[in-house]
Amino acid sequence: MSKGRVALVTGGTRGIGAAISTALRDAGYRVAANYGGNDDAAEHFKRETGIPVYKFDVADFVSVKAGIDRIVEELGPVEVLVNNAGITRDGTLHRMSPENWEAVVHTNLSSCFNTARCVIESMRDRGFGRIVNIGSINGQAGQYGQVNYAAAKSGIHGFTKALAQEGAGKNITVNAIAPGYVDTDMVRAVPHSVLEKIIAKIPVGRLGRAEDIARGVLFLVADDAEFITGATLSINGGQHMY
Ligand code: NDP
Repeated sequence: MSKGRVALVTGGTRGIGAAISTALRDAGYRVAANYGGNDDAAEHFKRETGIPVYKFDVADFVSVKAGIDRIVEELGPVEVLVNNAGITRDGTLHRMSPENWEAVVHTNLSSCFNTARCVIESMRDRGFGRIVNIGSINGQAGQYGQVNYAAAKSGIHGFTKALAQEGAGKNITVNAIAPGYVDTDMVRAVPHSVLEKIIAKIPVGRLGRAEDIARGVLFLVADDAEFITGATLSINGGQHMY
């Protein structure tokens, strides 16, 4: 019965989001892939996959509302929401600008409020909803040079548990995935020497693949996953266990 449900994937045109979008499409969902500014990547993704793309800034409530209104008009009410869009602006706190704090917190965390707020009423009315928020191992464990990112991702885990309680009586599940290091543009920006040290700490012995994360999303959004809510699924090759 998952077939035909409308799924919105934020940041769904590149990296982990692109893998989530295509996995959902392959499973029969009608996918809307959001992106922020990289038109070339989005056009390429659209050509390759046939998945419609929607440009709006997840950090800005007014843009999100307009974008989701368009998706509802063109595809139908959003029943599956994957909050995946995210950025990093790394730096130690004593050098971090207020702009880099705000950009990361708004894009990674406020975005979850913005999108969920725009779909939750319709999910409640329909008595069905699946929300998956992409957190991070660095939100669980903290990370040097990432107070902004770790705070935002950690906030996602709290947001998830609170909203899970609100949605439980309406068949709306809300879960988080905490990926470890995954081979995407975001991680390719990490200096090679640092990356080598990170890989050495991953028991499975490799970086994650975007498809590893998409597999988890598919599991959590399934119609019959209704008893799984408020959970955080770590997908990290064993790098962080608790
Ligand atoms: P990428 O940098 O490869 O892709 C990010 C995606 O988010 C792009 O589609 C980008 O759009 C979109 N995006 C960024 N800012 C905005 C915005 N303001 N509005 C709308 N869309 C936006 O990232 P990853 O695939 O590596 O990461 C995906 C998620 O997984 C992020 O939340 C990240 O924090 C998380 N994560 C990643 C890990 C990793 O190792 N890669 C580890 C743990 C968590 P555009 O193409 O237009 O720029």
